[in-house]
Amino acid sequence: MIKIESLSKSFNEKKVINNLSLEVQKNEVIALLGPNGSGKTTLLNMIAGLLRPDSGNIYINNIMVNGTNGTKKVNLNPFERQIGYVFQTISLFPHMKIQDNISYGLKSLHLSKFEVKKRTSALLDFVGLREHALSYPSQLSGGQQQRAALARSLATEPQVILLDEPVSATDPQLKETFRLELKKYLQTLEITTLYVTHNLSEAFMMADKIAVIGNGHIEQVGNRAEIFDKTQSTYVAKFLGINIFEGKAVKEQNGLLLIEINGIPLMSALTPEFVGKNVTITLKPEDITLLTKEPVNTNSDNSIIGVITEIVQMHSTAQVTVDAGFPVKARIAFTTIKNLGITVGDKVYMSFSPLSLNVFSDTEKRK
Ligand code: ADP
Repeated sequence: MIKIESLSKSFNEKKVINNLSLEVQKNEVIALLGPNGSGKTTLLNMIAGLLRPDSGNIYINNIMVNGTNGTKKVNLNPFERQIGYVFQTISLFPHMKIQDNISYGLKSLHLSKFEVKKRTSALLDFVGLREHALSYPSQLSGGQQQRAALARSLATEPQVILLDEPVSATDPQLKETFRLELKKYLQTLEITTLYVTHNLSEAFMMADKIAVIGNGHIEQVGNRAEIFDKTQSTYVAKFLGINIFEGKAVKEQNGLLLIEINGIPLMSALTPEFVGKNVTITLKPEDITLLTKEPVNTNSDNSIIGVITEIVQMHSTAQVTVDAGFPVKARIAFTTIKNLGITVGDKVYMSFSPLSLNVFSDTEKRK
């Protein structure tokens, strides 16, 4: 497991990691998701022992590797941490054959020649590079080099592995295959993994749980449904392209919660503790239906009117921005736009279920 408590790190007075806490349970794969520059590599480097935190504690399998234990300051060397690390830029030794790159880390373990050979051979098979054992890194494709780097980091049988954008060096057309292979490896290995990516679909494909990093800390941790449907942070909603509104929870009404956004009344699922409070509301663009006529008899669905300000086609769907006094993004099939015959400047009704409104109190904002 990896346990991080209140970690902070500044570069030239700029706080890159700010009071960050995160736990990865034994054998769990967590994707660390965030835009470029959000501090992902900095965090990995601190876990691996390549960079010293300013403050905070890091534990690997319940052993403190960084931190303060009473009056004692702890800062274990990278090789004492039992961590495998696959860097974003491939870090194979160019003058060494693939098999020697893979067995490199085993030297420090003082194993017998036979044992080194056995482990290296098994790893070559594992990553499918047996026929390239005697090749040099430059003779391999980007994806193969990544696999060799993975094998090298696994050679010492670490209990924790850190993968920093491990698919980035792979040719675009091979990315998908490599991701699937890597996922299979990680499942077979049953190894605690922190998988860094800035790519949303990759994060959801590789891991069951996602930790979104932003503003120097973990903004939200959860599975796909929790992150998308129960967004708990403005930052996460923006990062995922989800609508985010500021409003007020007015009162309970017919078992639902009456909220107001810009003076427009809407119904959401009831969360009694919010009544009378300012709240933040998220709504996924794909949960909105567009109509050209006012909906009748909608089984208490919300309906708001607005004017289309933009239509952006994305593959088979389109993102339609509607000005309803505040901007709302809807995602609908492109064929639906054609069928409705709508275009920029047209008046539309947006319909959505009370259950698709996620209401929360943005604690960051209210500090
Ligand atoms: P990510 O991996 O999410 O792209 P990084 O951890 O690489 O982000 O960087 C986070 C921020 O810290 C960036 O603004 C970067 O410029 C800064 N940074 C990283 N390493 C250093 C360093 N050694 N010296 C100064 N600034 C750094």
